[in-house]
Amino acid sequence: MPDSGLNSPRSAPAPVIPRLRVGKLCVAIQAGSVEELLARAEAALADSKFLELRLDSLPHPAEALPKVREFLARHRDAMVIATCRRQPFGGNFEGTLTAELETLMKAAQAGCQIVDLEVESAEEAAPRQWEKLRAALHAEGAALLVSFHDFSRTGDLEQAAQRIEAFRPDFIKVVSTACSLADNLAVLRLIKDRSRSAEVVGIAMGEEGLVSRVLGLRAGAAFTFASFSNSAGTGSGTKTGSAIKTEAGVKAGNGIQTAPGQVTVRTLRDLYRVEQLDQATRIFGVAGNPIAHSLSPLMQNTAFRRESVNAVLIPLKTSALDDLLTLVRELPLAGVAVTMPLKQEVLSHLANADPLTTRIGACNTLRTGADGKLYGFNTDVAGVIRPLEKRLKLKGARIAVLGAGGAARAAVFGLVEQGAEVFIVNRTHENAVKLATESKAQALTREQFAQGRFDVLINSTPCGMAGSKQPLPIKENELNAGLVFDLVYNPLETPLLKLAKERGIATVTGLEMFVQQGARQFEIWTGKPAPEAEMLRVVELALRKRR
Ligand code: NAP
Repeated sequence: MPDSGLNSPRSAPAPVIPRLRVGKLCVAIQAGSVEELLARAEAALADSKFLELRLDSLPHPAEALPKVREFLARHRDAMVIATCRRQPFGGNFEGTLTAELETLMKAAQAGCQIVDLEVESAEEAAPRQWEKLRAALHAEGAALLVSFHDFSRTGDLEQAAQRIEAFRPDFIKVVSTACSLADNLAVLRLIKDRSRSAEVVGIAMGEEGLVSRVLGLRAGAAFTFASFSNSAGTGSGTKTGSAIKTEAGVKAGNGIQTAPGQVTVRTLRDLYRVEQLDQATRIFGVAGNPIAHSLSPLMQNTAFRRESVNAVLIPLKTSALDDLLTLVRELPLAGVAVTMPLKQEVLSHLANADPLTTRIGACNTLRTGADGKLYGFNTDVAGVIRPLEKRLKLKGARIAVLGAGGAARAAVFGLVEQGAEVFIVNRTHENAVKLATESKAQALTREQFAQGRFDVLINSTPCGMAGSKQPLPIKENELNAGLVFDLVYNPLETPLLKLAKERGIATVTGLEMFVQQGARQFEIWTGKPAPEAEMLRVVELALRKRR
């Protein structure tokens, strides 16, 4: 694309940006037919007046525009981006560049206030095509957004931004794919640098890129994209044309994504409160792999809101501790809830940990000190101890623990410290013996266990978990305790707890442990008492909905 002369994009008059009306959350909409597209758009307006219509998801985009015009005439408060991305550049439009430009111009004439042109097409367009596009947009007062997409990685974003800037668009949109948590840093840096002088949108796609979606506005992005919440039940199918590389419409949770990792507008607004985050907001994470189904974001963000703490907790998908520590250092993160597989490995990176955490050999909570160093805690211990100490005196109590894995370690070390007599029974007996030796507990064979009688029986195996093949960790006739505590919390009532109830035995759910360990994390991070009842309420509700 030549860069000088009257018709060059650099010298062309920029259209008037309807700045004031640009919202912060743009809901991306796609569908297999114009009727469905506009039905979804109509439904999405309840959440945001700012929409992106993916015309390229339609079989005949240009033919849809009269209906788009009618839609916009009915909804004069709506702000719409029209996108008709061609197949080679990650869209679904099979037509030529000329056809794409024609569609975008007609979209502007139909009332769409912004058109999105991918940088590859911008570079391919001849001067006369540019002149025509500029004139059409100018006549309609529509703005130009030039976009860059990398569907495989996060590379040189600076170079991508420079390619876009050559066209002097009203909006710069740079979208990459996060392969690590650290890739978010590159996107956020780009937004921060560029937003001083331009209207910029930056996103890293993929589950690892969620940080960029949550923190993009805080970094200075003009707006960010969200998926359509399908709660209105508009239409059943989305055109998931194989031709749309990774931008295929994917049903995910209660939303329909146009890009991997996209989250619904309600999640961004209600769970992460992205419009309220500012420079004073403290950023926390829950890290591990898998992490998508963690209830910690719901629980902690609810608690932050309830206690008016200016903080947000974001799921961080990673199995690589180095990657997590880079984010902790450079974002920076004020604290992290650490889950599998990082709980042990993180210990050697701590400036200090409490003695029990060191003895257990697992840390589930990080706090960044004022000195920038990391301090580690194990709140799983409190998660087991607190529900029990409300119900019985732990000193001298006979407690049987089924399992010898990570959760069992926290339970056993914590209970021994409280003066309980702890017995470990495990599928692999050697693992029980090893843990018992380390913790000053006793290992029992299955036969010894079956003959014993205990004040409390704790299940710390995954038996009974939703999807687990083995519902009960013991035989029915081995239920030999006055109280049964199942650490598994999904389902809320596990087969073991159900059996215990049928026998008239008191029970404690894994949900109590989950909330208690989370409540201690909240206290470590904020120094405030945790709103436990509210934390319990939202997590319980979410678990009931999942059933
Ligand atoms: P883990 O480290 O993998 O340990 C699992 C333990 O269960 C091991 O001792 C293993 O025995 C045993 N086990 C696995 N499958 C079994 C089976 N089919 N039959 C009998 N024993 C079996 O797991 P974890 O991190 O300790 O977690 C265990 C459970 O606790 C999970 O289901 C999780 O939901 C729950 N948990 C709950 C919370 C909470 O907040 N409520 C927190 C943490 C964990 P081997 O030694 O023979 O492999």
